Amino acid sequence: MAREFSKVAVVGLGTMGAGIVEVFARNAIDVVAIEVDEAAVDKGRGVLQHSTDRAVSRGKLSAEDQADLHARVHFTSSMDEVADCQLVIEAVPEHLHLKKEIFAKLDAVVGPDAILATNTSSLSVTEIAVATSNPKRVVGMHFFNPAPVLQFVEVIRTVVTEDEVFEDVKALAQRLGKQPVVVGDKAGFIANALLFGYLNHAVAMFESRYASREDIDAAMKLGCGYPMGPLALMDLIGLDTAYEILDTMYKQGRDRLHAPSPILKQMVSAGLKGRKSGRGFYTYAEPGSSQLVDDALSPAADGGDHEATRTVRTVGVVGSGTMATGIIEVFAKAGFDVTYVTRSQSKVDAVTAAVQKSLEKAVQRGKLTQEARDEALRHLTGSTSLDDLATVDLVVEAVLEDLAVKRALFENLDEICKPGAILATTTSSLPVVECAAATTRPQDVIGMHFFNPAQVMKLVEVVHTVSTAPDVVATVEQLCADLDKHSVTCGDRSGFIVNALLFPYLNDAVKMLEANYATADAIDTAMKTGCGLPMGPFELLDVVGLDVSLAIQRELYLEFRERGFAPAPLLEHLVTAGYLGRKSGRGFRTYA
Ligand code: NAD
Repeated sequence: MAREFSKVAVVGLGTMGAGIVEVFARNAIDVVAIEVDEAAVDKGRGVLQHSTDRAVSRGKLSAEDQADLHARVHFTSSMDEVADCQLVIEAVPEHLHLKKEIFAKLDAVVGPDAILATNTSSLSVTEIAVATSNPKRVVGMHFFNPAPVLQFVEVIRTVVTEDEVFEDVKALAQRLGKQPVVVGDKAGFIANALLFGYLNHAVAMFESRYASREDIDAAMKLGCGYPMGPLALMDLIGLDTAYEILDTMYKQGRDRLHAPSPILKQMVSAGLKGRKSGRGFYTYAEPGSSQLVDDALSPAADGGDHEATRTVRTVGVVGSGTMATGIIEVFAKAGFDVTYVTRSQSKVDAVTAAVQKSLEKAVQRGKLTQEARDEALRHLTGSTSLDDLATVDLVVEAVLEDLAVKRALFENLDEICKPGAILATTTSSLPVVECAAATTRPQDVIGMHFFNPAQVMKLVEVVHTVSTAPDVVATVEQLCADLDKHSVTCGDRSGFIVNALLFPYLNDAVKMLEANYATADAIDTAMKTGCGLPMGPFELLDVVGLDVSLAIQRELYLEFRERGFAPAPLLEHLVTAGYLGRKSGRGFRTYA
């Protein structure tokens, strides 16, 4: 018969433990909340008070229910008080020796049927279990941060965990309103195993000054719809915890991409642990606060020292595909005269029709006035001759993603365009410097990587090469602001910011599936429900197209020569078989 859980204990009331206490108490379960000493107990009590006060002020909890909730929690610094609990969840810092010690103590106090669970993110549940006299009753119960909000729990089953034990914990998770997934005991389980390579990579980008912390975070929020940027997320997780998770994952898998970026160790040693200590990658109003305050790395409110910018009034766009069409519309709507060049009159007509249709749709949805539409249309001039770009201030090319084609185009633009004109490519995977090197004016060449659909997506990656002049970067950044886009600026490395952070993670998900650690459904659920991502990796791969994803992953592998970036064989095989995702009716899933 399944166990009834009416009284549980939580050991450790830090970032996770305090939230876990709240989850149980909200679900009418009595909780013994344990910390090392009275001061830590008071801090834990304070966190619960603050969190429930907020829920009351937001109208999500009545004052009466808040009082009931608090009455269910008994705070103590004595481990002996777990004696009559049916379940104990440990949430102390991520150190194996500490967890083993606590499990040995708990084992001696609890009743014979009690379950012992660890909230570890990466340590071996098996190793923790064998520190007790009865490893069969030990499981992992891995909540996500913030525990009261995120509706996902990984239940970790070791080779000795009794079936009833993880079944009962799974049922309990469901009762708490969480979506449980049962997985084996492997460092990082599903979500962290996929998340931390990405987070570590973002830290490395910051550490190498490839892009600013604000730009790295904005890129993932605006480019992928993530709820938080990776560096803000590291601060929320806690840099000490993140370091331990990476370290454990590295030791188990020996994947260099999991070796903690050196700056993490330095920050942890200096006490910069993220939100909980008031400072991590960002600075917060006080320890535990989510409110950001300015610090030495914050961009100056007035934009700081202004680099002189070039004047951009007239723009040329080359290409006739989806990106070109969207970019033409963006410029025209912002009041720039746009000359767009395609290879034939029929293509010019098709682009004009597509822009007109898109503007018309915006009018019908009330997003654009008829006057604004007519005004935008007046800015459009179609052409079949590149020579018509002789006088424009800036050209954006969005032709075929083929280096030979792009280089030939830049040679032409170099011959045609006036001196000082800015030449931009919207390539998503080719080196911008190759386009620059095809001209005699590499200082004027830059990447302007729009996202699809360009009319909708706010983000533009502004990519400078080793040759790009600073005033060209400043001009394009200002131009993006005038277009009502959010620009992020980075160097000319494969994948820029977004794709370099996104695709290795998607590739890792394919490798996890290939290794039969979890199903595609479980992995998608983990990333959506546990990490709040808008789509799971397999959903996203099927939307993007497996061929496109494979091509990007190959570029990343070629550029960085990281073993961990090598495309997953399963991805290669699916592409070879013609399973390209939604567009072909089958990818990781089959579509009607
Ligand atoms: P934390 O540092 O915020 O809190 C740990 C708490 O444990 C501290 O308050 C500390 O005083 C207390 N503690 C230490 N020794 C103790 C003892 N002997 N008895 C009682 N309490 C003791 O850490 P955290 O981020 O909450 O992480 C706790 C666990 O949860 C770790 O295993 C971590 O990997 C895991 N986890 C963390 C996250 C996250 O996002 N931070 C998410 C899921 C799981």
